[in-house]
Amino acid sequence: MGRLEGKTAVITGGNSGIGLAAAKRFVAEGAHVFITGRRQEELDKAVEAIGSGVTAVQGDVSHLDDLDRLFATVRAERGRIDVLFANAGLGALAPLGAITEASFDLVFDVNVKGTLFTVQKALPLMQAGGSIILTGSTTGSMGTPAFSVYSATKAAIRNFARSWALDLKGSGIRVNVLSPGPTTTPGLFNALARMGSQDAIIAGLVAQTPIGRMGLPEETAAVALFLASDDSSFMTGSEVFVDGGMAQV
Ligand code: NAP
Repeated sequence: MGRLEGKTAVITGGNSGIGLAAAKRFVAEGAHVFITGRRQEELDKAVEAIGSGVTAVQGDVSHLDDLDRLFATVRAERGRIDVLFANAGLGALAPLGAITEASFDLVFDVNVKGTLFTVQKALPLMQAGGSIILTGSTTGSMGTPAFSVYSATKAAIRNFARSWALDLKGSGIRVNVLSPGPTTTPGLFNALARMGSQDAIIAGLVAQTPIGRMGLPEETAAVALFLASDDSSFMTGSEVFVDGGMAQV
């Protein structure tokens, strides 16, 4: 029997990278998984790759109407949510002095506002035993050049979990942060490609990591499974790093 047998999970940003790896793993462990993302074509490819036990609902987490449509679909098809993985996120690189209002608004809208309203709008479908996982980042605890806005959104997410663990006291619903280090996803590689000198940046990231390599999305998905399952039943308000030691030394 799988570790999520019969459970219903929602994974935002489930058509790529860490979210897609988690969707595959959760389905393999017996869950029915709803995945979201803005790009319908990537959602279609993800559904094809996963095969069964998955429903795709296109939408943008920073648009509250899209979230309403997502959770109305989950309510109609499954009636409940056991695991919510609020994972959709993006970043834009710019050093202090070159940060635009548009990029600030985009990154905060998706990462902070999107995470907040994803969780708030899912709550009526959750009950005791439910698990909420927020995707943070090592950058939330470290300084990273040209990445302050993104890093600040991840620090905000870390505090959401601390505060929401208190707001959810007595509900039986747990909330934890899963913070990856550099992980081989399309999101990271596309961001590095836009900057040029991709190889030098990757070499620099690897050099900062005690394990001496980048992480795989499947390695983050394995820890997402732990946080989703009852194996982590005495954990709430925590941050779990899957970072090869990068932010631990
Ligand atoms: P990815 O491959 O680009 O995946 C990001 C996912 O988020 C995609 O499915 C994307 O789908 C979705 N998304 C982005 N904006 C969205 C929006 N407004 N509404 C709905 N979905 C949206 O990147 P990833 O590396 O797996 O990133 C997943 C999470 O891990 C993010 O929160 C990221 O900050 C975090 N993280 C990644 C790393 C790393 O090194 N890879 C390290 C630390 C933290 P659409 O584009 O179709 O919308």
